[in-house]
Amino acid sequence: MIDNHTYQQLLPLACEWAKQQEEFILARGSPLAPRGASDARQIGVQDPSRVRVLVVDRIPMPENEALAEASRRAQIITDSSRGVAIGYGIILRADSWGNRELLLHQLVHVAQCERSGGLESFVEEYLGDRKASAKFTVGSLEEEARRVAREICAAEPVAK
Ligand SMILES: [Zn+2]
Repeated sequence: MIDNHTYQQLLPLACEWAKQQEEFILARGSPLAPRGASDARQIGVQDPSRVRVLVVDRIPMPENEALAEASRRAQIITDSSRGVAIGYGIILRADSWGNRELLLHQLVHVAQCERSGGLESFVEEYLGDRKASAKFTVGSLEEEARRVAREICAAEPVAK
């Protein structure tokens, strides 16, 4: 677990890292395909045209060792992460490209970020939510993302 002192020290670093990552993804990623854009609207993303998706071989971990270690320990971004949403930037691991539920999940985080009022407030809200969670839950924002993605996939089975 991450104690409060460590959390307070790492939070500004996490915000800074998130801002840099979002900038990087927005500069290099691709806009959503039409289906992704309509999924985004269904999920409640206000501005789907701002979303960019970047496909990578491996989800990048923060360079700061303490931050990377906390991220792994809290299972927020780990070496086995397949995708992550940072503001309007979504990173997907190449071997999970085309995984609809994974993209939907990340789009829920984009909508949450908009609702939160921006990346910095979202990082704080998301990490606070994860930090406050009991040992066996992942936090209400993460639960919402998992539930919504599952529901949409179940409602519209992928055409064969
Ligand atoms: Zn998530």
